[in-house]
Amino acid sequence: MIVVLKKNITAPEKAQLVEKLKDVGCEFQVFGDGEPIIRIYSKQPLMSRDFFLSQPGVQDVLRITPPYELARRNSAQQESIIQVGDIAIEPKHFVMIAGPCAVESEEQIHGIAQTLSRMGVRFLRGGAFKPRTSPYAFQGLEEEGLRLIRKAADQFQMKVVTEAVSSAHIPLIVEYADVLQIGTRNMQNFQLLKSAGKQKKPVLLKRGMNATIDEFLLAAEYVLQAGNSQVILCERGIRTFEKATRNTLDISAVPLIKELSHLPIFVDPSHASGKRSLILPLSRAALAAGADGLLIEVHHQAEFAKSDGPQSINFQAFDALLGSLKELAPLLGKTIL
Ligand code: PEP
Ligand code: MN
Repeated sequence: MIVVLKKNITAPEKAQLVEKLKDVGCEFQVFGDGEPIIRIYSKQPLMSRDFFLSQPGVQDVLRITPPYELARRNSAQQESIIQVGDIAIEPKHFVMIAGPCAVESEEQIHGIAQTLSRMGVRFLRGGAFKPRTSPYAFQGLEEEGLRLIRKAADQFQMKVVTEAVSSAHIPLIVEYADVLQIGTRNMQNFQLLKSAGKQKKPVLLKRGMNATIDEFLLAAEYVLQAGNSQVILCERGIRTFEKATRNTLDISAVPLIKELSHLPIFVDPSHASGKRSLILPLSRAALAAGADGLLIEVHHQAEFAKSDGPQSINFQAFDALLGSLKELAPLLGKTIL
């Protein structure tokens, strides 16, 4: 933060300001006598902008680094590598996370895991606790769903990605999952973010449907700040005036987040579009924009899916998608995983 001093600040006012900054525990640097600025170094903003503005002799206060200290990219820091067991989510990979919206039955999740693993997919997704807009909609199989997805994944050496909708469920979900998903509706559930930050499994954090990029990165900051450095971001579409798609995929979020943060960024074209016909082109766009992977809803019988059928693709479409991405990936220096 830069504190800009008034041109006519007096020497006693300046001395008083310096004392005040020491009193409140700021680390700072006062430039030469004629210079009208003081640079505050403290990583945590100890005092509000208003506090500085209300000091005699202060003209303005400017933030020069973003408020997400741990999530931000700084020149010294490499891209974060997220290790999920033996699999690394890292810049040279483009990682596929695929599976149904919800775990519905043993046959369903077993069959989907079997086919996807044969296609080379290492991450199986499926919700057991579903955050549904309507209380009458399928809410998920809960602990039984966790047990079923774990069993299916273990049979085919896959990793489990599943959503935690409340802090109270975290210990249970940690028992079964390899990656904890935090959904769009919970991106600003700060207690949940803190709880996810206090456990050790990687967290896949989806962008809130109404969240700005700053708010998204601040949500990630909660998890990082609580002690978990294993955060994967996921752009899943935001609400706009457009009604032709379920949400609007903010593809610019991908390269922008790459500029602002060292964390990996995935794209979920399924929830972004709500339309299976758009999954292939949006997936290609995500890869071309520099994303680190995709989260895709796949169902063997989408017309009977208990949730998100219209955006779920079948095995044949998923296979075609993989083929298409495999053609594109080498041009971008990536390998599909
Ligand atoms: C999901 O992945 O099934 C889901 C509910 O996603 P989102 O939180 O992005 O709506
Ligand atoms: Mn879904």
